[in-house]
Amino acid sequence: WRSMLSQVVGVASRPTLCSSSRARGIHTVTMIPGDGIGPEISSAVMKIFEAAKAPIQWEERNVTAIQGPGGKWMIPPDAKESMDQSKIGLKGPLKTPIAAGHPSMNLLLRKTFDLYANVRPCVSIEGYKTPYTDVDLVTIRENTEGEYSGIEHVIVDGVVQSIKLITEDASRRIAEYAFEYARNNQRSSVTAVHKANIMRMSDGLFLRKCREVAETYKDIKFTEMYLDTVCLNMVQDPTQFDVLVMPNLYGDILSDLCAGLIGGLGVTPSGNIGANGVAIFESVHGTAPDIAGLDMANPTALLLSAVMMLRHMGLHEYGKKIETACFDTIRDKKVLTKDLGGNSKCSEFTADICRRV
Ligand code: NAD
Repeated sequence: WRSMLSQVVGVASRPTLCSSSRARGIHTVTMIPGDGIGPEISSAVMKIFEAAKAPIQWEERNVTAIQGPGGKWMIPPDAKESMDQSKIGLKGPLKTPIAAGHPSMNLLLRKTFDLYANVRPCVSIEGYKTPYTDVDLVTIRENTEGEYSGIEHVIVDGVVQSIKLITEDASRRIAEYAFEYARNNQRSSVTAVHKANIMRMSDGLFLRKCREVAETYKDIKFTEMYLDTVCLNMVQDPTQFDVLVMPNLYGDILSDLCAGLIGGLGVTPSGNIGANGVAIFESVHGTAPDIAGLDMANPTALLLSAVMMLRHMGLHEYGKKIETACFDTIRDKKVLTKDLGGNSKCSEFTADICRRV
């Protein structure tokens, strides 16, 4: 299978080493363990990194919703300061209250650090039985606007309006990221996913920017496809897709569908790439409250996100070592967590990977 290591592009500038560690070549990374199974899987990742002797020094920070001046929701200052310094974060899942309370902290992190590109490589894992064995695609989702702009209001009682915001700048920026990604990762095509037949102005603008950017990347094939057609084609034959770029909401949904093709959220990594050299890598699954604290969680998604992070930081050898150990454990089938079809605990799965790195 194509190595996950070749699946991320560091368009953003490299993080600097923290001054006290510079001489030793140790990089500081902000670790946000998150909620639910977050602490268990982040502890698993840190154990595996230690076993692999990866030159990472973790700065653990909780991200809980706090209100600043005027009641504005914000991420805790110590977490922001750590991210501002380290530029690189690894994040477990964060719980979001439904329809009330504080806004999504994931959304707030994306806004705070202008993490405009969500990158999700979906690559079949050898030896792990799924409906398809040869999926190898990447979804690139615009992460800052669209239906997730958070602009909602009541017009009159019983009528709510939610604004879909699409801008020229954000559309061009994500299209450029997708083409750069394709070029830097030896991928041959980019498909723009849209509904410009219905949302003529908003998706029309997004598509126009994709077309314009495509003109400047003659080495990459450009296609455009309606979202519904992509869904149909994706479940019939995912091998026809390479890099897909799309607005926020479509990306949120389609990337989960793609995760299902390779075995689900437990094995799917992601990276959120920002404009100012900041990047946060995260597992795409949620807090899994039904199994939290039971040592049953699968740490693979967070581990593979950490592998993407190592690649982004230029630490290819460590990424390769850890990725190989993880895939070997899965291929071996002796020590697997329940979601992967086994009976082992998270701690046993972690120990098996540690033994192999
Ligand atoms: P979920 O992903 O937490 O769980 C869905 C199912 O998948 C559950 O049965 C769970 O046990 C299982 N699962 C998920 N990750 C697993 C893993 N690593 N190993 C084994 N099994 C795993 O989705 P949900 O229940 O819809 O959401 C729970 C909470 O997580 C909500 O508050 C939601 O807002 C939040 N959430 C956060 C993120 C994020 O921080 N990126 C993403 C999605 C959901």
